[in-house]
Amino acid sequence: MKAIAVVPGKPDSVHLADLAKPAVDDVPGGRGVLVKILRVGVDGTDKEINAAEYGAAPPGHAFLVIGHEGFGQVEAVGPNVSAVKPGDYVVATVRRPGSSLYDLIGTNDMTTDDTYFERGINLRHGFLTEYYVDDAEFIVKVPQGLREVGVLLEPLTVVEKGIAQAYEIQRRLRVWRPRRAAVMGAGTIGILATLVLRLRGLDVTTFGLTRKPYLNSDLIEALGARYESTADLPILDGARKHGPFDLIFEATGYSPVVFDSMQALAKNGVLVLSSVTGGDRKVEVPADKINLEFVLGNKVMVGTVNANREYFELGVRDMAQAESAYPGWLGRLLTHPVKGLENYRELLDTLTTARGAIKVFCEVAELGGG
Ligand code: BGC
Ligand code: ZN
Repeated sequence: MKAIAVVPGKPDSVHLADLAKPAVDDVPGGRGVLVKILRVGVDGTDKEINAAEYGAAPPGHAFLVIGHEGFGQVEAVGPNVSAVKPGDYVVATVRRPGSSLYDLIGTNDMTTDDTYFERGINLRHGFLTEYYVDDAEFIVKVPQGLREVGVLLEPLTVVEKGIAQAYEIQRRLRVWRPRRAAVMGAGTIGILATLVLRLRGLDVTTFGLTRKPYLNSDLIEALGARYESTADLPILDGARKHGPFDLIFEATGYSPVVFDSMQALAKNGVLVLSSVTGGDRKVEVPADKINLEFVLGNKVMVGTVNANREYFELGVRDMAQAESAYPGWLGRLLTHPVKGLENYRELLDTLTTARGAIKVFCEVAELGGG
């Protein structure tokens, strides 16, 4: 079968590879789920893997199949699988367990291992191919009413984890009634974070670089959130106007924003960091002031990466709520479909150059009837 792959370590090596079709009994214990891939989203991670910034092939392979945002339909299941059946729509989680204590208790998204296994990213093939097989443990069912937007589930889970962790941490306060939130960044993750925080009933201000109006600011305002461009209103001025914020979700990909966010945080507030910044940028910050306000304000800051199955299940529920609260809104994020695995060049070019793209994705196969 066809697969979109890169040669890790070799810049811009994206190509069409050939892979054997997996079988349901490749997974031991009768727990296999064979999935036909329908759609796969791509993001900055795929861009950076193709740029050879990171990524590793599975042992024994010269290439890595990319794509970790997979959406598909179950084709066959092993005898010990009852949670899904052929015909069900599903999304697979990305990370597979290592050997730390956190992996052993089913929270491999919190691994402390240095080596981690992620489908389409590190040491495991991804989903930009025709079929995959995996253990039922890592397969999450998506109701058929969400199939048009199911490809958005994986990026949403990154947000779900960050926000769930923030609420979990804030149980330290016995009573926490967050009212004002800020989202830093108005890309795909920032837009989805705005959604989840609006679904939780918060007053949300989302900061982006671009001046409104454009699709991203339209989508944010359609949720009843506020959009501010940092070209006109720097974050700290924005915090004086609309904050301080009880919860901030940082997703700009630009690390200096973290230090502004620390200063925009309310007393007892929580700041969630999700940007994967591979560079070595340095900035000067008012360290005494930031530290003092953090100490005197009992503030907390937490990093978050990846997501476990519980956050995929949470994401499914939020997508269903989103479709009922803001009908058609999720579908507007699917801006750039590219048909067919053989158009891998167009897929990567769209990802790197398309203006106004929110979600670029490959239509591997038709969604089908039903
Ligand atoms: C994926 C995560 C992954 C992270 C780091 C993100 O793009 O969505 O699942 O853990 O990259 O590799
Ligand atoms: Zn991703």
